[in-house]
Amino acid sequence: ITVRDLRKVYRQGSNDVVALGGVSLEVPTGKIHGIVGHSGAGKSTLVRCLTLLDQPTSGTVSVNGKELTNVSADELRDARRRIGMVFQHANLFDSRTTEQNVGYPLELTGTPKKEIAAKVAELLELVGLAKFAKAYPSQLSGGQRQRVGIARALATDPDVLLCDEPTSALDPKTTDEILELVKKLRDRLNITVLIITHEMHVVKQACDSVSLLEGGFIVEHGDIASVITNA
Ligand code: ADP
Ligand code: ADP
Repeated sequence: ITVRDLRKVYRQGSNDVVALGGVSLEVPTGKIHGIVGHSGAGKSTLVRCLTLLDQPTSGTVSVNGKELTNVSADELRDARRRIGMVFQHANLFDSRTTEQNVGYPLELTGTPKKEIAAKVAELLELVGLAKFAKAYPSQLSGGQRQRVGIARALATDPDVLLCDEPTSALDPKTTDEILELVKKLRDRLNITVLIITHEMHVVKQACDSVSLLEGGFIVEHGDIASVITNA
């Protein structure tokens, strides 16, 4: 994923709020990259621009050399499928079972039922939830719900997995398990992963490289060892 000079300016009355001042990053395929920042740094804005939920004021986001920003409405739907999204609170449908939640993105794309069932079974195996296919979210632990969320994010075979505070609602042991799962998925699927977090220990455990976001700018970036010694 390549992000070039992403700017987002919000108009607030007569004031301009610069949420992102020109963020650039490049994460090679198959790497896990952390973006760390305190509250107000611009993390949510960056997530919304990367998932194409929000239009950046300027700048571009590309995956595998294909630009996802500045595309037509039709292309936007496809572009969104290139990036799978994992939320802090898995954001599952409570009235849907594990398998129905995971298959949901494929229902939206009109995938045949048989294909959905096969894909869902494969994904549940991959995240270790095969036994919970028929369970509802209320019957699952927080960690299990997050696994469902991760499986759902992978349903459309995205090139990038974008994880927004994926472990902030989890206890330390479950956090470890989820981060180990993310690493395993990266190894198996050769997927690029972005983890947005305010927790440095998450970055230390899971990421190959990291960017520090402050006041809408990346103030430092590099491999974990160099950034953490400087931090
Ligand atoms: P974080 O997720 O790191 O806490 P945000 O991206 O939410 O940071 O916010 C970055 C800055 O942009 C903050 O100063 C915030 O107040 C401002 N901001 C975010 N969204 C809006 C908005 N919709 N309108 C005006 N200002 C906003
Ligand atoms: P986070 O938990 O990511 O830090 P925030 O509290 O920063 O969330 O923001 C929650 C929502 O409020 C976001 O959608 C953000 O865009 C919006 N928001 C943040 N700051 C402002 C602001 N100053 N004016 C309007 N909306 C804002």
